[in-house]
Amino acid sequence: LLLLFLALGNNLYALKPKANDEAIEKKVNELLSKMTLDEKIGQLNQYTSQWEMTGPAPQGASAQKQLQEIKSGAVGSMLNVVGAEATRKTQELAVKNSRLHIPLIFGYDVIHGFKTMFPIPLGEAASWEPELAKLSAHVAAVEASAAGLQWTFAPMMDISRDARWGRTMEGSGEDPYLGAEFAAARVHGFQGSDLSEDSTIAACAKHFAAYGFVESGRDYNTVDISEHTLRNTVLPPFEAAVKAGVATVMNSFNEIGGTPATASAHLQRDILKGQWGFKGFVVSDWNSIGELIPHGVAANKAEAAELAINAGSDMDMEGHCYITSLKKLVEEGKVKESLIDDAVRRILRVKFELGLFDDPYRYSNVEREKKEILSPEHLAAARKVARHSIVLLKNDNHLLPLKKKGQTIAVIGPLAADKDSPLGSWRAQAVTGSAVSLLEGVKAAVADKNSVEYTEGTALTVGPRTFTQELKFNTTDSSGFDAARQMAKKADVVVLAVGENCFQTGEGRSQTEIGMKGLQEQLMKAVYAANKNVVVVLMNGRPLVIDWMAEHVPAIVEAWHLGSEAGNAIADVLFGDYNPSGKLPVSFPRAVGQLPIYYNHKSTGRPDPTGTVFWSHYTDQKKTPLFPFGYGLSYTTFKYSPVKLSSHEMSMGGKLEVSVNVQNTGKVAGEEVVQLYIRDLVGSVSRPVKELKGFRKIALKPGESQKVTFTLTSDDLAFYGADLKKKAEPGDFKVFVGTNSDDVQENSFVLK
Ligand code: BGC
Repeated sequence: LLLLFLALGNNLYALKPKANDEAIEKKVNELLSKMTLDEKIGQLNQYTSQWEMTGPAPQGASAQKQLQEIKSGAVGSMLNVVGAEATRKTQELAVKNSRLHIPLIFGYDVIHGFKTMFPIPLGEAASWEPELAKLSAHVAAVEASAAGLQWTFAPMMDISRDARWGRTMEGSGEDPYLGAEFAAARVHGFQGSDLSEDSTIAACAKHFAAYGFVESGRDYNTVDISEHTLRNTVLPPFEAAVKAGVATVMNSFNEIGGTPATASAHLQRDILKGQWGFKGFVVSDWNSIGELIPHGVAANKAEAAELAINAGSDMDMEGHCYITSLKKLVEEGKVKESLIDDAVRRILRVKFELGLFDDPYRYSNVEREKKEILSPEHLAAARKVARHSIVLLKNDNHLLPLKKKGQTIAVIGPLAADKDSPLGSWRAQAVTGSAVSLLEGVKAAVADKNSVEYTEGTALTVGPRTFTQELKFNTTDSSGFDAARQMAKKADVVVLAVGENCFQTGEGRSQTEIGMKGLQEQLMKAVYAANKNVVVVLMNGRPLVIDWMAEHVPAIVEAWHLGSEAGNAIADVLFGDYNPSGKLPVSFPRAVGQLPIYYNHKSTGRPDPTGTVFWSHYTDQKKTPLFPFGYGLSYTTFKYSPVKLSSHEMSMGGKLEVSVNVQNTGKVAGEEVVQLYIRDLVGSVSRPVKELKGFRKIALKPGESQKVTFTLTSDDLAFYGADLKKKAEPGDFKVFVGTNSDDVQENSFVLK
């Protein structure tokens, strides 16, 4: 069953055009014609629950008020009401009591799994297998829908080039092409081919837009980027999500050039709903309409509501601005009722598509909830996706893979026995501490458990660790170092788990230092001094500064926060049951001061001393990253032939084939992500020195070779140029194919 499930995962959920569009349009219009202005505004109002829906009736005044509002039809959607029983009860309040019986839509942050946790999105992007992201989104949808939800606030598709930003963990990294592939795959995974199926949920492309470009990587901060960067770098994943049929879009907290995204008609009306023809609805981010006041573009809630609705924000998430102000704004003629109608239509359309009007309780199914959640099939899928997300950063002298018997392994480090951090930031309904730890994974893999020893060495954090509290790092207690040294000395090999606690990353968790926090670096040095055979397993939610480690430690495995099956997946890689095939979706800096750092940067006007490369540089640090975008090793080696082109000319509207032979030149089977980049040498505006335009993961047995052919069309060369119109410009191009963004073979052609 599992194999069938995994094999079909790829094709089953391709989006088909909705056959019943017209019928739904008719129903939407019929319902709308019956609605009062109050009822319409109610549909635009989203609240978080004020009381335990499965518990006794609410006591406090605001909860009482919310209860009455739900009953009267003044609420269109709830977030954070979860579970088959809780959603049923809440739905009953709306459907049974309101005049028009319009069902609520229940939304929740199902970011990388619901109860069965998959790798954090950044980690999953390191698989370079969008079909795995589709699979994990599908599993999350199956579990979430069984718990009464119809809508997830995912996928996040913000491009991030600055690892200080805590939400780097939630996206697909620094590249718009890779980001677009993952965005579309996740939308397909959540939504399936038909939103009306029980096991699919509406997706939400967020955060629209440019949230990942906050100044200095500081969350919620100002963004000031050009239209050029917006169009060419930030928006492609969103456009891909819209093409994939995403049902909803969430706007963002940040301003761009003085206009908060939530108040931006340019983004929401002109681009999203206008140029891209998006038919779904836009939900604000949490109180992002209310935040127009502290942003300084609205004096009060009424002005905030006016700005937001006119700009195309359809639903107010917890801002209480629409519900308190829209009616008066319509009466005063400041907001046209037709705009409200448009927003309501969009929301009702999604509710009809989800089948909520046919049966508002269909998702609230206690039996299904019990059966589907954390099923063995889901855990197997989580393990598969997790092991494909691991990136081998270093493996000197073939220290890895480890032997399963005949050697003693010292498992050391603050994250080695941690059963919680691998669940990652944003963990929906995952049970705290429910991940398989690295230690458990290693013990389960070896022939004799007694060959594995464990000591923590140092604690990463001190004090309580919850979602809301800031972490305190241990910077003083090194009392475990001696035991670690002793254990390391006696062992054949040390597996050292260091990195980040999962609550070091995520929303509101930007950091100025992104190296080894606490005493981890000192522990690593102490252990390495006792035994040079150290394999570092990194667990983290962002690129880290690991310069000392990269120079000294012989083997480094990038394991992100991998989800429920983390320890098993890592053990699969450590012992060679799975040959690592992940590649970095982000550049790893050498120093924080290099940020933002990304491979697809521009050239400059300034030649370097050799006169061959144009650069900008530091006097105290190299300008290159420690590990480039697309980087990742395998237990085998691959050899690339020179790049062949079907022609050295491409006509406008035409295409060209780019091929290489890739051979497995090592001793074990392995998978390689073959990457295709281009460079447009002279444009109406400057173009990046390299841009990813294709990739393919191939599996090769030892000695086997395969020809990999990419088809480049002139559309693939298009960009928003000086006139801000998207088109390819004639001229000279370079094409590169290789194993990472820095290690490529090149060729060239002319676009005529
Ligand atoms: C986040 C969103 C999230 C929302 C609802 C906000 O603070 O920025 O990504 O979906 O909260 O929880």
